[in-house]
Parts: sequence; C-alpha cells; structure tokens
Amino acid sequence: MNTYTEKERAIPVYGTFDTVVVGGGFTGVGAAMAAAREGADTLIIERFACFGGSGTLALMNNINGFRNQVKPDHIQTSKGIAEEVILNLKEIDGLGKAAYRQEEYGAEPGKLSFGYAVDSEKLKYILLKMVVDAGAKILFHTMLSDAIMDGDTLKGIVVETKGGRYAIYAKNFVDASGDADLAFHAGVPFWQTKHDEEKRLGDGMMYKVIGYDPENRTYNEGTEANGGVEAGGAVTLWGPRAGGINSLDPDERTQAEIKTRLAVYEDLEEKKAKLPWLKDARIVETPQQLGIRQTRFIEGVYKITLDDVLEGRQFDDAIAMGSKPIIMYFGYRRFLEHPGYEIPYRCMLPKKVENLLVAGRCMSSDQPAFESWRSMAPVMCLGQAAGTACALSVKAGVTPRQLPIDQLQKVLKANNAEIGGPLERRK
Ligand SMILES: Cc1cc2nc3c(=O)[nH]c(=O)nc-3n(C[C@H](O)[C@H](O)[C@H](O)COP(=O)(O)OP(=O)(O)OC[C@H]3O[C@@H](n4cnc5c(N)ncnc54)[C@H](O)[C@@H]3O)c2cc1C
Repeated sequence: MNTYTEKERAIPVYGTFDTVVVGGGFTGVGAAMAAAREGADTLIIERFACFGGSGTLALMNNINGFRNQVKPDHIQTSKGIAEEVILNLKEIDGLGKAAYRQEEYGAEPGKLSFGYAVDSEKLKYILLKMVVDAGAKILFHTMLSDAIMDGDTLKGIVVETKGGRYAIYAKNFVDASGDADLAFHAGVPFWQTKHDEEKRLGDGMMYKVIGYDPENRTYNEGTEANGGVEAGGAVTLWGPRAGGINSLDPDERTQAEIKTRLAVYEDLEEKKAKLPWLKDARIVETPQQLGIRQTRFIEGVYKITLDDVLEGRQFDDAIAMGSKPIIMYFGYRRFLEHPGYEIPYRCMLPKKVENLLVAGRCMSSDQPAFESWRSMAPVMCLGQAAGTACALSVKAGVTPRQLPIDQLQKVLKANNAEIGGPLERRK
C-alpha cells in the first residue's frame, strides 16, 4: 500500500481528566459510571450518539449472562451496575419476553434470571440517564484515533470530532472499544481470529418487525433464540449472516454491511414462508450497524482459558464472574456444570502498557472462554471493575497495575458486585 507521511502539527488539548473511557458499549458504560461514582473526574467518548454498543447499535437487545442458563444456577453471577440496568428497565416497562430457554427467577435484586429481552429504545434512555446521573462527562461523535505515549506509559489519546482533532490527557484509561483500538495504538500485543477461521463467532444483522402474531409465535424452542427477541411491541429477528468477517478491514466491513442490509427484505420473505406467525410482519427498524462479535483480543498478564471456564476456577484477584454456556466452539451450546467461574483482574491488564485497562469483548482470553463471558451482563461487570480500579488508582496515586487487589475487591463488593468467593457458596 502507498503511504503518506503526516506533517507534525499542534492540536488543541480538549482537557485533562482522572479517567477516560473509550467506547460506550455495556463495558464502557459500566466503567464510566463506576469511575464517576467513585469520585474520579471521568470522561467517556463514543463514536456514535447513544450508549449500548452492540446492544443498541446492532439491535442485540437480549441481555444475558446473569446466571447459569441451566442448573446449577443458584448464584446470580452478574450483579452491580448490570443488575441496576435491568431493575431500571423494569421500572419503565422496558423488559420483554426472554429469548432463550431458562429458569424464570423474575426481576428482583439478587434474583435475576439468566437473561432478558429489552426494549432497545428504553435501553438507550436508561443507559444515558445512568451515565448522566453518575456525573461522567460525555463526548459523543468522537472517534479515538491515536495514543499519546511516553515510553510504555499511556499519557493521552487523540480523537477526531466534527470540530477537528483534539488531544485528551488522563491519569488512566479504560479501553472499552470492543476492538481494543486504544490498546492497538498504544502498542499492546494482541491476537485476532482470522476471518476465514472456522472456530469463531459469526457476525450478522438483526432487524425489528411488527405486525406478527404474538399468540402463535414459536419461541424458546430448543436453546436458540429462533423466535427472535420480543420487547417494546416488536420482535427483533436474527437477519442475514455475514459469516466471520475481519471487520477491521474497511473494505471488508463495508462490503459486509452492504451485503447484509441489501438482504434484509428477502430474509424476512424467507422467514414468512416458513413461520406462519410472521405472515403479516413488516420491518420497522434495521440497526445502525452489522453486529460484530469479535476482533482483537489483547495479550494480558493473564489469559482466561477454556479450562478455567469448564472447571469453574477461582482466582485471588477475581473481580467478576461468568456462567454462560460456550455457545459455538464445540458445535453445540455447551452448558457449564457449575454455577460460575471467576474472572481475574489480570485479564484486563495489558502485558506491556501502563495506565491502561482493557475491558469487555477484547479482554485477554482464548476463544472458547470468550464465548462464555462475552455477554452483556458480564462485560458490564468487567467495565464496573475497570472503572472502579481506575478511580481507586487515582485516589491512591498509583497505576492500575499497582493497585492492591484487596482494595478493589472490597469496594466492588460494597457496590453489590459479585466477584465469587468461598467454595461453599458454590454447592
Ligand atoms: C450478532 C451478535 C449476537 C449477540 N448475542 C448476544 C446475546 O444474545 N446476549 C448477550 O448478552 N450478548 C450477545 N452478544 C454479545 C454482546 O453484545 C457483546 O459481547 C457486548 O455487547 C460487548 O460489549 P462491549 O462494550 O465490550 O463492546 P461493544 O458493544 O462493541 O461496544 C464498543 C463501543 O465502543 C465504540 N467504539 C469502538 N471503537 C471506537 C473508537 N475508536 N472511538 C470511539 N468509540 C469507539 C462503539 O461504537 C461501541 O459503542 C451478541 C453480539 C453480536 C454482535
């Protein structure tokens, strides 16, 4: 490829913060809220104009991972801010009918079910309100484009806005971009499944329909959400599949967006022919973007593995839990035979760069483990842990790597996070 050498130039400094969170998906929202609530002067940047990431932008309005999908499921493994989101949605009638087979626990504190279908418009409203109420500063329409490094220490970021390019400084950062964009620019080593690799999760376009027959809807058959996600008077259907694309390649991503969007109406016609309850359905919404499940994974101090997940392992530096099945890797939905495993803080600590935590779907993990912990409830808990760690690090005048883990665990527990603990609880 030809290259162009950019000229050195001075750019305005937008501001200096305690903590900057890059990306406003479930992870970033959890991080920004936790950091701000813990007293950090926090900025969250997001390239679009709403929060929720895949949950709203890709219309994946099916939040799950609150507990094991099958028995033993007596531990609610995702709590804290993720639980608050569900309880707040319930208050404004924002919950729908679960898309998957699950034991129904209801929607009370500490008693959440495996997952919830949610009204994606109400979800946008609740996430925004929660971040505003937490006191974090928000910059929408802002795209991270570079890292400002001093050796291996991350000092700041460069962002693109409609007003031009700015530098933003902070004491520490959370990369919640889903794609590890900040870690990439900062030089953190990463791995990525190739687009033609079989064992990875595929990408696809969802869409919403109304005018269906709710009485005869065939949902919850088997373990797949083959009847779509029903909430807010509409059903969100899994539409055209893109396969597993390399969404970091601009052309490949664009072609996949074009291919899937152009196939949406045909996709509904095919479904109508097979499913009588969709006979009179019509499309009322397509998403902002194709749903992208996985791209870069950072190389962290620890990489969570399949064995950790299958054996329900515990860690001294546990900061969250996971309990979801491994959804595709084995060619079937592999449920866990225990109520949950712990996720160590070291998975969010990059091997190399200081002042940075990488949380959410790009955290340090192998493929099958990722297929378990990647859901929106657990990634929000990871975000909460990352944001809390950043705020505590600022207070203590240390980097997130130097933060004593017991301090972080204590504050997380005080804020209703589930981080695992004694084995007796697991029986
Ligand atoms: C097709 C599909 C089906 C799924 N099914 C389910 C399911 O049924 N239940 C479930 O719970 N989970 C499901 N998931 C998984 C879940 O949605 C994701 O793993 C989770 O939402 C990831 O959250 P995140 O915040 O880590 O990343 P993302 O949701 O990807 O959020 C990243 C955010 O960062 C922003 N961003 C990215 N780069 C930049 C940048 N350079 N500058 C500024 N902002 C940036 C993005 O716009 C986005 O808002 C599914 C995902 C997909 C795609």
